[in-house]
Amino acid sequence: TATAATKASMEVEGRKVEIFFFPFVGGGHLIPMIDLARLFASHGVKATVITIPNDITVFQKSIDRDQQTGLDINFHALELPADATLQNVDMSAPPMTDTSILQEPFEQLLIHRRPDCVVTDTFHRWVADVIDVIGIPRIIFNGNCCFARCCDENIKRFSPHKEVASDMELFVVPGLPDKIELTRSQLPIFVRTGTEFPGKSMRAEQNSFGQVVNSFYALEPAYVDYYRNVIGKKTWLVGPVSLCNRNLEDKAARGQKATIDENSCLNWLDSKKPNSVLYVSFGSLARLSPTQLYEIACGLESAGHPFIWVVGKILDDKDKENCFPDGFEERILDSKMSLIIKGWAPQLLILEHESIGGFMTHCGWNSTLEGVSAGLPMITWPLSAEQFYNEKLVTEVLKIGIRVGSEEWASWNMERKIVVGKDKVKAAVVRLMGGGVETVEMMRRAKVLAEEAKRAVEVGGSSFNDVDALINDINNYGS
Ligand code: UDP
Repeated sequence: TATAATKASMEVEGRKVEIFFFPFVGGGHLIPMIDLARLFASHGVKATVITIPNDITVFQKSIDRDQQTGLDINFHALELPADATLQNVDMSAPPMTDTSILQEPFEQLLIHRRPDCVVTDTFHRWVADVIDVIGIPRIIFNGNCCFARCCDENIKRFSPHKEVASDMELFVVPGLPDKIELTRSQLPIFVRTGTEFPGKSMRAEQNSFGQVVNSFYALEPAYVDYYRNVIGKKTWLVGPVSLCNRNLEDKAARGQKATIDENSCLNWLDSKKPNSVLYVSFGSLARLSPTQLYEIACGLESAGHPFIWVVGKILDDKDKENCFPDGFEERILDSKMSLIIKGWAPQLLILEHESIGGFMTHCGWNSTLEGVSAGLPMITWPLSAEQFYNEKLVTEVLKIGIRVGSEEWASWNMERKIVVGKDKVKAAVVRLMGGGVETVEMMRRAKVLAEEAKRAVEVGGSSFNDVDALINDINNYGS
């Protein structure tokens, strides 16, 4: 709830400050934006989530619960023509999804309601112009942490990747607080080739009022300072936003209904020893090939540690019989040693259970931060987007994870040339879950960060204060 000192500033001209939150469709961007809206509502503003009917059903219950506790939070569904492709998007909608069909109803809504500010996702590529013409302060949410933004900015600015002779040769990202080395093969294709992310408007970022970031100061202080002071971006750090999910219901159905009953999942976890289970997930979007899934299955099974493996969508569905070794699923089911979840997992609930001792992750920023908030050491397996930067943060700056050895950036729906073999998978699992000195030390560091994450969002914490600071800045906008 809002502090007494800031309560007064929740009002402009005698009415409550109203912020529109306009999330992009799909998991990794939609989920944190809903949390963001709930977080701001808990600081006393009127929060309205502007979205499509499909997405409302997914989050309706959490919003209902918030309303029952007195928060001023609502949805507004933009009308879609019956035949619009957006009618059928789900949690795995890719970043290229064209949302411009929403432009007309969104514009009308803005003119009619005139909120005090709009927080919008960068993947709505048309939205900046619409908001700027009407003259409402516009804040960007792009889902990344400051570390990844700093890597991205400095690679674009200094082009160190053009100085190396091959795609596999290491180069140093210039200017950063730490020595961060990457290879060209780990860079997004549009960074490698010097082109812009398709359809993305640079102007949208330059003319915005600032950026809201799902991170917290103590996690990456040198990079927050660098991003603010050297790169020069106005930034409010308000995370981890997932920590606003405080009860079991919110954690169990985040984003979509889980394909496993949460109670049977929790009962299974209860039957395991503390810190003994590895949670394996590659997020909402990535599609792995049957060949890669086969290697993961062999590696996980031979490592001999219990796991929960969330098998998401498969790259080549035709070949899906060949994803697992003979009898693999039956052995898992019969032994009860591990769990396979096909579809959607109640990730927050699982990560926070005391039986979980490690997280094999694709380093999507939400998952990474959820792992940090749960105090877990990680096995990093980046695939696309800015995930190779996040891997560096986890393994080399925070020192709470080890690499599986993923070397090749590829778009979420592309076949990779390099498959990570079962031996590498097994070696990483044995190293992380084997309980050696290295893991104990990583676990200790991860627990410290988890405590700092919780402190950041509590009253008086750095993220709590940044939410209030942003609300104040909205109040003072133009004065
Ligand atoms: N998620 C989940 N269950 C799943 C897969 C994903 O709850 O089975 C959530 C996860 O907790 C995270 C988000 O979906 O909040 C995925 O975002 P992330 O940035 O990690 O990866 P992306 O999906 O964007 O690649």
